[in-house]
Amino acid sequence: MCYAIPGKVTAISGKTVTVDYFGEKKKAINEIVNLKLGDYIYAQGGYVIQTVPAKEAVETLETWKELFFELRETDVRLSRRPAEETGVSREVSLILDRAAEGRELKREELHKLFLLENPAELDQLYKTANFLRQKYLANSCCVHGIIEFSNHCKNDCVYCGIRRSNTILERYRMTDDEILAAVAEAVEKHGFKALVLQSGEDPEFSVDRLDNLIREIKKRHAVLIFISVGEIGRAGLKKLYEAGARGLLLRFETGDPKLYANLHCGDELEDRLRDLRDAYELGYLILTGGLIGLPGQSLESLLNDILLTKELKTEMYSFGPVLPDGPKTELVLKVLAVSRLIDPQNAKIVVTTGFETLDPQARRLGLLAGANSVMLNVTPLKFRKLYDIYPDRAHTEETIEEQIKTTLELLYSLGRAPTDLGV
Ligand code: SAH
Repeated sequence: MCYAIPGKVTAISGKTVTVDYFGEKKKAINEIVNLKLGDYIYAQGGYVIQTVPAKEAVETLETWKELFFELRETDVRLSRRPAEETGVSREVSLILDRAAEGRELKREELHKLFLLENPAELDQLYKTANFLRQKYLANSCCVHGIIEFSNHCKNDCVYCGIRRSNTILERYRMTDDEILAAVAEAVEKHGFKALVLQSGEDPEFSVDRLDNLIREIKKRHAVLIFISVGEIGRAGLKKLYEAGARGLLLRFETGDPKLYANLHCGDELEDRLRDLRDAYELGYLILTGGLIGLPGQSLESLLNDILLTKELKTEMYSFGPVLPDGPKTELVLKVLAVSRLIDPQNAKIVVTTGFETLDPQARRLGLLAGANSVMLNVTPLKFRKLYDIYPDRAHTEETIEEQIKTTLELLYSLGRAPTDLGV
């Protein structure tokens, strides 16, 4: 199973290297000592993860070559954007045309797009987002794995199923050995190159324990590690960066301070934002976003959330519906599409598990509305159901093999390559 295409190093300038993929040049940060010109590597999230022996790389490239160009062609075909659509008002058409040219839209225009209801206009919005995704980022789709290693949480976020006050939930905590075994399975058996380690805010997993765990993982495997363990402060973030973590998944949930405090027992939004800003300064890739459909959340507020996500220099936008009383599919698609219009050139936009739970068609619809990333759940099955942040979560019963199979089928049908070639 191959989630990455090997690239060839064609230039090295300090920590930045240029990597060639079938003639296309991308940049990546290198932390491997002794990397040389002409070496083959796997990159992920803009980082060189691993060198690959030349023979193995050439063989892999050979098997990828035909498929790679075939997929690209399919994608180009599916992401064409009709210039004129019946049923689209002139005003909306003009806004979307300007977006398609890569121009920045004004706030009122973005707001207008959020208000769309007419199916032809919505369709044109999604198509424009998909067109921009293709234009700037081609057909790479990140496929990351997530391991949820503990559902203990000291917080009491009102919407969340693993909140402290939920006394009927059966709690679990994976041992370090179980976590290491799950990582080994995901990386060595299934080929994942990037993994998110997620949990509630569990005091048993102190920064020191996570530090040891991440060091051990990095010693054993070539993999990009994202942490998602809630707020740990600048010192904690620094320590885990030094241990080898390179990404932080931390949603700010909502950028409205009052709404935030109401939902989080008076905790302050600013504290969460500080962690995100600190993490960026420390060098982390930022994965953030918010919830869609919170009670009392206006469209205005949702639009602010997307703009805030961009302001936080986010690598991957993660917006999902609040469940079980989530919004309609349409609103989630609008958020994905508008995110793409706001950050057309760089954003990775994930189709969240929440969205997949809301709508079984979420992945296909999302990937055709600006998204270019999915996450597979690689938590051992016996624990997966217990990470019960909301009812009936998607993929709690599918083996990793089954998830990979359905994901690849979908990606190939859309002309997407399950790779992360970076920019
Ligand atoms: N402790 C980590 C992980 C929290 S769980 C942290 O604080 O970031 C991961 C995400 O699940 C949360 O960020 C939240 O956005 C989402 N979530 C929790 N309850 C939810 C619900 N009822 N519906 C949809 N998403 C929910």
